[in-house]
Amino acid sequence: MNYYSLNKSAPIVSFREATIQGQAPDKGLYFPERIPSVDYTLIKDIENYSKEELAFRVMQPYIGNAIDETNLYRIISETIDFPFPLVPVTENIYSLELFHGPTLAFKDVGARFMSRCLGYFSKEQKDTITVLVATSGDTGGAVANGFLGVDGVEVIILYPSGKVSPVQELQLTTCGQNITALEINGSFDDCQAMVKDAFMDAELNKKMQLTSANSINVARWLPQQLYYFFAYQQWQHKEKPPVISVPSGNFGNICAGLLAQVSGLPITHFIAACNVNDAVPEYLRSGNYQSKKPIATISNAMDVGSPSNFVRVMEMFQQSYQAILEKISGYTVTDSITKQTIADIYQQYGYIADPHGAVAFYALQEYLQQYPGSKGIFLETAHPVKFPDTVESVIGKTIAIPASAKHLLEKKKESILMTASFQDLKEWLLNK
Ligand SMILES: *Cc1c(COP(=O)(O)O)cnc(C)c1O
Repeated sequence: MNYYSLNKSAPIVSFREATIQGQAPDKGLYFPERIPSVDYTLIKDIENYSKEELAFRVMQPYIGNAIDETNLYRIISETIDFPFPLVPVTENIYSLELFHGPTLAFKDVGARFMSRCLGYFSKEQKDTITVLVATSGDTGGAVANGFLGVDGVEVIILYPSGKVSPVQELQLTTCGQNITALEINGSFDDCQAMVKDAFMDAELNKKMQLTSANSINVARWLPQQLYYFFAYQQWQHKEKPPVISVPSGNFGNICAGLLAQVSGLPITHFIAACNVNDAVPEYLRSGNYQSKKPIATISNAMDVGSPSNFVRVMEMFQQSYQAILEKISGYTVTDSITKQTIADIYQQYGYIADPHGAVAFYALQEYLQQYPGSKGIFLETAHPVKFPDTVESVIGKTIAIPASAKHLLEKKKESILMTASFQDLKEWLLNK
């Protein structure tokens, strides 16, 4: 499989090059030359496949001969080495829990796959690859954990001091080895701007092989389609495929679901559930796309004014507004509705949702009221313990930290304090 740049002025590359580069030289996002169709029998007999076999069959065409089959099977098996349960919450609504990975958020899937691919590719390279990433919380932990101990890859994470939750901060700052956390005296936007400047800086790029680990990288984006297949594997109403509601920020996750659907996975409809950062729902309402200035909310992993993967969604629909309207509905959910929804889900059904999952639940509930008889799934993208300030005050009790994350509490935070200045970052990188 080859990948082209959506800006259409860069050479076509293999999966290997697309992963190492992250973004094309013309600043476009990479997109697969064709979207493969899955075998009809794979869908018909989906319950008879193991998670690993299914995942391998779905992913293999995207990788082609960039990774041999034995290594690809190993990489995929390690990536999805935890459960993806579909849990009933109401009569018609199911939660696809994507928080059972090591850092308690769905980003583990993309980060684990990408890190293993880069580790595999770096064996054929003599220079160390430096991954530079800015995080508002979940990305950093998933990337740190995914890349820990990977030979030939060094990871530098920038996070805004005092603006991530305690569990998130421990996930970022306690890894050691090839992972360094830079604690920036500024906002997430400042961190992101510093990373962008680094990618643009000629001197830095001459001295080191820099790459990014955010969702524009195909190796993070593509494996996210796998859990849509796992959801369908567990779906008990095969005669009526699910409506799927995805809490969306940069639109990588929903775009991976669309990929699964285009390749043949039965899904009735998609819901793009956003907080007030709603450039895409606004586009679906009006037909005009305009990026916005990001606004801070309690579902902060979705505080994105200009969703980077939206260009991929448009490409999937050949830029047709009509075509996209048939497949996706958009919803805007305010913080006060989100809190009310967390309270309602807890009181009525005894289920604890995190703020992102709650946004998706609310949007799905609204949609199902319009289409009675349908059933749906919302993606529960992070464990509620990652957002204790909001969730605990709404439900009025403390959330137990899952056993898999308890070890974090015994570790000591290690970070390097830095001002929000690109010059300081550059100097630090050059003198490291
Ligand atoms: C990153 C993230 C999202 C948004 O996912 P996108 O792929 O950027 O749309 C939603 N929920 C949580 C918990 C996240 O960490």
